[in-house]
Amino acid sequence: MTISVLDRTAAADVFSPLGALHDAVADVDEDLLPCRVNDAELWFAESPRDVEYAKALCADCPVRALCLDGALERREPWGVWGGQLFLQGAVIPRKRPRGRPRKNQDGAAA
Ligand code: SF4
Repeated sequence: MTISVLDRTAAADVFSPLGALHDAVADVDEDLLPCRVNDAELWFAESPRDVEYAKALCADCPVRALCLDGALERREPWGVWGGQLFLQGAVIPRKRPRGRPRKNQDGAAA
């Protein structure tokens, strides 16, 4: 047995949130998935208001926990997943409106 065969066998035993999500979605009526019955652009919206609306819609999703686990594992670069907003692989509390300057630690505009 070669090393590559051993690696593939080990990989098959690892839990995959994405695989679990696909299995769960297959058992759920698509009409119960908010991102399937609403405008999918909301989940990748520029407007902070739309992003918060997408997060609120995820709250009622029957696969929310699996969706969030998968997004965390994949380090999603952006968008709303599992009721959380991701940016560059991390969950951030909210989207900043365009055009606002960042504040430094002293509270002054940077
Ligand atoms: S939790 Fe995931 S699958 Fe459910 S609506 Fe939100 S983004 Fe879609």
